[in-house]
Amino acid sequence: KRDGNYVPLSPVTFLPRAAAVYADRTSVICGATSFTWRQTHARCLRLAASLQALAVSKNDVVSVLAPNTPALYEMHFAVPMAGGVLNAINTRLDASGVAAIVKHADPKLLFVDYQYIRLATDALSSILAAADSTGTAAALPLLVVIDDIENPTGLRVGELEYEQLVARGDPAQHPPRPVEDEWDAVALNYTSGTTSSPKGVVYSHRGAYLSTVGLLLQWGVAHEPVFLWSLPMFHCNGWTFTWGVAARGGANVCVRAPTAQAMYSAVVAHGVTHMCAAPVLFNVLLDDAPPAPLPRRVEVLTGGAPPPAALLERVEKLGFHVTHAYGMTEATGPAMVCEWRERWDALPPPERALLKARQGVSALSLAGAGVKDLQTMASVPRDGATMGEIVLRGSSVMKGYYKDPKATAAAFRAGWFLTGDVGVVHPDGYVEIKDRSKDVIISGGENISSVEVEAALYGHPAVREAAVVAMPHRHWGETPCAFVALKKEFSAGEVSEEEVVSFCRNKMAHFMVPRKVVFMDELPKNATGKVQKLALRERARGLRPR
Ligand code: ADP
Repeated sequence: KRDGNYVPLSPVTFLPRAAAVYADRTSVICGATSFTWRQTHARCLRLAASLQALAVSKNDVVSVLAPNTPALYEMHFAVPMAGGVLNAINTRLDASGVAAIVKHADPKLLFVDYQYIRLATDALSSILAAADSTGTAAALPLLVVIDDIENPTGLRVGELEYEQLVARGDPAQHPPRPVEDEWDAVALNYTSGTTSSPKGVVYSHRGAYLSTVGLLLQWGVAHEPVFLWSLPMFHCNGWTFTWGVAARGGANVCVRAPTAQAMYSAVVAHGVTHMCAAPVLFNVLLDDAPPAPLPRRVEVLTGGAPPPAALLERVEKLGFHVTHAYGMTEATGPAMVCEWRERWDALPPPERALLKARQGVSALSLAGAGVKDLQTMASVPRDGATMGEIVLRGSSVMKGYYKDPKATAAAFRAGWFLTGDVGVVHPDGYVEIKDRSKDVIISGGENISSVEVEAALYGHPAVREAAVVAMPHRHWGETPCAFVALKKEFSAGEVSEEEVVSFCRNKMAHFMVPRKVVFMDELPKNATGKVQKLALRERARGLRPR
């Protein structure tokens, strides 16, 4: 009921609160630059005022191409304070990928960090060229460059510069626009769209607020964390921790590129307590692990792809303590968390890792996460074996894809969001992903989970990365084909295909064993760092089983 006491939920409210409660504590630190919460609040108020002076009004999209910097952090508050919708674009996309998003999102302004000026101008030129060729007019966004005292390039384009906007904003003239409805948009994030055109997902103030608070609780983030930005903020707004660190009065430690050296030195220099890392980043941490143990336990939240148990075990040995979450752009980031139970502490490490590799239980922000038979929409039994589609419902699930009613209709059934992931439910209620539905291998009528075969391969002492895809087979229809990259201490040829196959034979049912093993230096990844299974499937199509 919306009476006089009603105040819409919004994660933006965490900022004035942080300025009041944690005023002189460090808010953001990046190289030689650092701010306190009072300063960050004041800067965001001024930037929001400047945005309004530039005619940004309610529901206007403001896009940005930037690495993890104070500017990108501040925009998470300043853009919605001006009434706008933040669209942080994946900087690993190429110019045509960026152009597709800019065309679709139609932002009023495009902020671009000096590192990505070329990417932005190439994207805008291609939009202009495409419009020219069809004789239509293209409305391009106004470009704002984010410069930096450490900018070695000296490159400049556009008339506007970020710090000028911060300096000249006048909050007395343009105070922050109050959120009228908690279902209003706060952010617009695009899915990676490897197979189709990019799909925009609108995050509401309500969904973002609930996701942020719920995840802080489920991960157990106490007050004043020191949070290392190893995860790009453009991934689901940093899995909501952009807002979450403000909620806990923490310090945001920004690094432009998360190399092993940058991460380990930040851990030592700033006393990092928390960081997020997709499983691919574990290999980076493992490759260049320092000889000395970590100065303190670092809490790591992982997700974005299935973390193989063997990899979890290895990274925990370094002194990281991992929590596993599962999610997607459409669910405002995390949708399930593998909540740790005290009784599991006594188990031996390999067993603990197996439990932890499961995707877990519903995020607090959801009303439900289940595994269902898509024909009947009945829940699968909790037997750890019957597969079904993982489905979600609740406030943090998107309302739909931006300007795409057809894709929206296809994404829901009976009020549930269909994740496209196949999983099982264990007797204790924890969900485990078996595959993305399109990646399941069907061999002689049996379903083979590529995730399961990959997890076994990661148990091989020489395997650094593994991906398993379907390969056509005359008799079985499909059969598993493994692509493997070896750890750097193993040279090519040191491990044979036969050896990998016989290793698998001891770990799994015969029909699941890869019929072909292809060694690669590195597996191909898409812009979100996920293995490009489509490309591998195409490659496997031209191969012959042994
Ligand atoms: P997309 O890659 O489809 O553009 P996202 O980047 O939002 O979209 O990724 C979501 C997908 O990533 C999920 O549907 C799931 O397949 C996979 N995923 C995310 N987290 C996990 C996890 N913890 N374990 C297994 N798979 C995961």
